Amino acid sequence: MNADTQTATKEYTDEASKPTTLREAWRLNLRALGLYWRYRPGWFAAITISALFDAAFPYATIWLSARLIDELAGARDLDRLRMWVLLTLAVGLALGLASAAAKHWANAENGVIEPAGYQTIPDKLLTMDYPLVDDAHTSDATARIQQTDHFTGRGQRTALWIYQTSMPAVFRVFGGIGLSVTLFTTPVPDSAGAGWLTALNSPWLGAVAIGLIVAIVLASTLLAERGERYWDVLDKEGRFGNRVFRFFSYLYQDAKRALDLRIYRQYEEVALPFQKANEPWDLNGPFGRVLYRRMAPLLGAGAACASLITGVAYTYVCLKALGGAFGVGAVTQYVGAITTMFAGVSKLFEMGVQVKANGPFLRRLFDFLDTPNTMYQGSLTTEKRTDRQYDVEFRDVSFRYPGAPTGTWALRHVNLRFRIGGRLAVVGENGSGKTTFIKLLARLYDPTEGRILLNGIDIRKYRYDEYMRLFSVVFQDFRLLALPLDQNVAASAHYDPALVRDCLERADLADRITDLPEGLNTPLYRELDEHGVDVSGGEAQKIAIARALYRDAPFIVLDEPTAALDPVAEAAIYARFDRIATDRTAVYISHRLSSCRFCDEIAVFDRGRIVQTGTHDELVRETAGKYRQLWQAQAQYYRK
Ligand code: ADP
Repeated sequence: MNADTQTATKEYTDEASKPTTLREAWRLNLRALGLYWRYRPGWFAAITISALFDAAFPYATIWLSARLIDELAGARDLDRLRMWVLLTLAVGLALGLASAAAKHWANAENGVIEPAGYQTIPDKLLTMDYPLVDDAHTSDATARIQQTDHFTGRGQRTALWIYQTSMPAVFRVFGGIGLSVTLFTTPVPDSAGAGWLTALNSPWLGAVAIGLIVAIVLASTLLAERGERYWDVLDKEGRFGNRVFRFFSYLYQDAKRALDLRIYRQYEEVALPFQKANEPWDLNGPFGRVLYRRMAPLLGAGAACASLITGVAYTYVCLKALGGAFGVGAVTQYVGAITTMFAGVSKLFEMGVQVKANGPFLRRLFDFLDTPNTMYQGSLTTEKRTDRQYDVEFRDVSFRYPGAPTGTWALRHVNLRFRIGGRLAVVGENGSGKTTFIKLLARLYDPTEGRILLNGIDIRKYRYDEYMRLFSVVFQDFRLLALPLDQNVAASAHYDPALVRDCLERADLADRITDLPEGLNTPLYRELDEHGVDVSGGEAQKIAIARALYRDAPFIVLDEPTAALDPVAEAAIYARFDRIATDRTAVYISHRLSSCRFCDEIAVFDRGRIVQTGTHDELVRETAGKYRQLWQAQAQYYRK
């Protein structure tokens, strides 16, 4: 067994339940911002400039009003008063306009950046090894990340919000410091009227005031931090409620369900009672329990604590003014500046708490984004052969799906060599390994044991994208896009219309395309275009066959290609199978043994093994063989 070829799988640990350190949380939040930076650096410019104006506007007004009040309370010089009034108006107008324009810009950027962020998970999924995409752990991880995002906004989006909220606060703090430095440096004059207030000049008192403020800030931050921890509790306790909410939000919009809902009165009899019993927004539900009863009191106490700072600052300013350190205009300035500044300070602390609270959710996101691709990527180019002489061989291949229990083999010791240009049928009961065999052939998975060779070389040594291009596969559960027919067939927006038509004709759709309102350009389905046409399952299957033909790969693989076709259409496909496959090597999976008669070789799968190979006539003659057993089981319905 080559252990190095074991197909990748990944267990995602539930890291989010463990809190992060502040340092790690910072790193994770910055990394999340980095993701947005890649999508839209303009957003950062818009938010930062808008925040700058947002802070400049109140401070400019505070400073100018203080000068105006000083003048009114002092000399009352008319020229100077006029100048201050005009300046206040002019600066207010200019900053107001600039601030409004910047906000407008920021709003426009906000409208674009959030949807851009939703590209993170699809981008990763598109580049992941197929076995990882197909892994239940992956769908679980992405579902949890997306669920949390919709539910509480925690994760990537919160990092964005933290930046957006912190920027104005940063500028407010700097502006506030600028406008209040003189509050501390201007002493109370040592006059008789000042009395004990000169004590305010003592550096000790300054230290006590600062100490008090620091203590209040710390206490309010601690309370907020304890409150914010409940996001994690809410995320866990609210998971089910969130599912209930989402399920019922979409239930009534789902046209496919409307029929059952009506016939069985499912809404009144089943859905409504369940919804009532599991109402997530109820006061006794997860939101009520966690948000209102546990989180809100702590956050409220934290905010109340923070407002004490303004009280301390007011007292200090008023006492100094009482002592004669400065006039009434300065009192306005300091009070305004300090109030605004501390609002900024407490916002910054609050955001620090948010950075920490968001850490675990981002760890869950990055844990997923950092999943490495482990499938070996070779560097050999596949020869471009016009004669299509590609020889493929399965050599003692065994395969177990990632995560499947030991001993449960989907394929076991499979040996098979394709005849170049031949038609191979793969038959067997459900679950016997037919589709798995195709997935390995197309290198969606690597064998757990054994090797698959292309022209004598292990397929892992070829460049993955080139190897994939050798195969046209119509999977059983293929999907078409709600886009025009021609683009579906060509699998591209740029294509050769004559070839598209030819492929559709070979797939037996000649008649159908003449009926289409916009010909080959007709959109399929109505999800994106109200003029789209609904094609039947059988027609869709033919379109999928045409798509495989358009690709013109040396191998064509059809997995149950006629399952959705009526017997007449099925017979038509078989009759033209040679025209469909031309000189390609064709692999044909089917339940219906009658459809395998025209194949050169039939491989019979049973519980992951190839139990028989041969032509139809040879295999029916083997009386004890699986093929004959299957053949007889099907034939009994057609006798008489
Ligand atoms: P067939 O195409 O003959 O119906 P498959 O190749 O689909 O059979 O399945 C072979 C076996 O592998 C079955 O036991 C099936 O349950 C199992 N299997 C198929 N797909 C997966 C998967 N993605 N993960 C785990 N087991 C799978």
